[in-house]
Amino acid sequence: MARIYAVLILFMVFLSCTPYSTETPRYELGIPRAKPTIYIKVDKAFSQRQKELIDKAFRDWEKASNYKISFQVTWDQPKPATYWQYKKPDQDSGLFFWYLPKNNTYIPEDLLDLWTGYVGIMVYGQGEYSGNVIIFDTVREEHFYSVALHEIGHLLGLQHISQYSVMHPNAIGHCLNLKDIQQLCKLYDCVPVSQCETPELTAEISSPLSLSEAFPPELLPASPQNLSPVFPP
Ligand SMILES: [Zn+2]
Repeated sequence: MARIYAVLILFMVFLSCTPYSTETPRYELGIPRAKPTIYIKVDKAFSQRQKELIDKAFRDWEKASNYKISFQVTWDQPKPATYWQYKKPDQDSGLFFWYLPKNNTYIPEDLLDLWTGYVGIMVYGQGEYSGNVIIFDTVREEHFYSVALHEIGHLLGLQHISQYSVMHPNAIGHCLNLKDIQQLCKLYDCVPVSQCETPELTAEISSPLSLSEAFPPELLPASPQNLSPVFPP
């Protein structure tokens, strides 16, 4: 565990030293996407049920934004490459929604170590049309929809929330609540309305409910030069 934190800390230091390019805007937490229509391809490895839940997650975020954003989804796409070959998303790499088995077919060994326990990750790329949303096959079926909502939230620039919500680090919400949508509407200038029908919990949740399902801050670097500390050549 200490090793993981050491790697993360080194990584953050490295990130903070990376010069920012104004020519190729880099998306990350806290930055709304500039174009209202978001084009994304979805892995054909997802089951029919999973695709329905992903579709519902896209539509719920669209509705939450008062339709200021929309997703144009291309379903049933082959994986663009094994993940380690897809490590340097440039401006034209596209947004791809991956379903990845947690083994070294697609994930290098050191990342398997680093990502132990994670069931979803967002990897930001450069520009509008670059980045990876990943759900691992270790996700529990009953958690799938919340994880899909959570990672799409990151795609839209949303950060983690410590209170009960979909954007809690463990994606413990089952619907987009006021906390989630208030954050969305700060970025996309909409009027926040909760999508949850049942009364919402508002307490701070400081300790994860499940140690086996943590979500990283999804700050894998976008530009080729700062990918190298994480991915092998
Ligand atoms: Zn997260």
